[in-house]
Amino acid sequence: MQNVIAEWIRQVNITHAPLRQSCVTFQDAFDGFYSPDFLASAYFVVVDRIPKPDFPELRAAGFGAFMDMEAAGITYDDTYYVQRRFVGDRGLHFHELVHVLQWSYLQREGFITRYMSEILSHGYQDAPLEVMAYQLDGHYRQGNPPFDVQAYVQQNL
Ligand SMILES: [Zn+2]
Repeated sequence: MQNVIAEWIRQVNITHAPLRQSCVTFQDAFDGFYSPDFLASAYFVVVDRIPKPDFPELRAAGFGAFMDMEAAGITYDDTYYVQRRFVGDRGLHFHELVHVLQWSYLQREGFITRYMSEILSHGYQDAPLEVMAYQLDGHYRQGNPPFDVQAYVQQNL
């Protein structure tokens, strides 16, 4: 199943490649949190509807609630997708960039396997990979001082 999802994700990113924008645009906004090099390696795509895999096998495995959840954004590897009406939400971009780092440290198969198992065992709100992203975007949203998010994610996965 993970392989099917990984392939689906690869295709989604290929399809949207012409529309993606570089996160280097957030260099000033996220100064001290994310390095310019990292931001230059991450991308976002503005969409009307967040692309999510919709395989019957996923519903049968218990992911129905997650699949039906109205998401403001979702991260697939080095690219995240944001709903058009949330594109001005800096905290959302910050959140999705945490997931880009998680993907890069866990690698594609590792992230997918771990994320799926966390959704099943903890639910979306309490999935540790989500808790980490929400804590970090909360820190940013509250206007706290910058710190190296990349190092934090690497050390806390
Ligand atoms: Zn998230």
